[in-house]
Formats: sequence, C-alpha cells, structure tokens
Amino acid sequence: MSDLSYLYQEILLEHNSKPRNYRILNDATVSIEGHNPLCGDKYTLQIKLEKDTIVDIGFQGSGCAISKASTSMLTERVKGKTTSEAFSVFDAFHMMVTEPDKDIDHDLLEDLELLSGVSGYPARIKCAILSWHALREAIEGESGSVSTE
Ligand code: ZN
Repeated sequence: MSDLSYLYQEILLEHNSKPRNYRILNDATVSIEGHNPLCGDKYTLQIKLEKDTIVDIGFQGSGCAISKASTSMLTERVKGKTTSEAFSVFDAFHMMVTEPDKDIDHDLLEDLELLSGVSGYPARIKCAILSWHALREAIEGESGSVSTE
C-alpha cells in the first residue's frame, strides 16, 4: 500500500470512528434528509443558518465509510462559513469527483481531496456527494429530502 492510500484509509477510518458534528441540533433552522438507495446511505443534515452564515451544523444517520467520512468532513469544512463559501466548496468538490481532469481549486478542498479517489467509480461518487447535494438543497431553502436516484 502506498503512503498516500495508507493516509487515505487512516483518515477515512478516523472520521468513521469519530464523526465530526454527529449530533442533534436543537436550534436548527433547516433540516434535510439525503438518501442514496443504491448503497443504503441515509443521513439527516441539520443546519443553523443566521442570515448567510452556517453558524452550526450537525448530522445523524448511517451509511458506508465513504459517505460517512464525506459528511463528517463536510460539516467541518462549512461550519462558520457563509453560504456562498459553502457553494464554492460544493462546486470544487463536485468537479473533483465528476470531472477530475479539470482545473480544481485545491485551496478550497483541503482534506476533502482525500476523497478524490472515488472519481473513477460512479457508485462511490454517489456516496461521496450525497450530503453535499443535501447541503445545497437545504441552503437553497428546500426542506424535505434529496435522493441520488
Ligand atoms: Zn455509500
């Protein structure tokens, strides 16, 4: 195993054993469910929005290691950010997994780049991007649920 894939595994496992912001948000202003029936990933994102800032975010649910690590990283990455910053990260992440040959903004991605390995596997892309779609829908004021199918 190469050093990079070893690091990738370690961080993925670490997010799975200790997911960040894995909790109920009692003062959430918006809540949304994301479902990937192909894999069985199902998460509820709860966000506290104040004007254009994501002041707090939490998630609950279950799924595979990739979806859980991606959701955990998402909450870390967008907490405290404005919604437009979150959209920029969404765009960079989306491009990284769907069009990895394009010019990607690495500064925006930070440790999310560890998930770039999914780009060759369409089924895994759905796992990685599930909560990102849910986040975008939630910010755009859509409550309810999103599905990858
Ligand atoms: Zn999955």
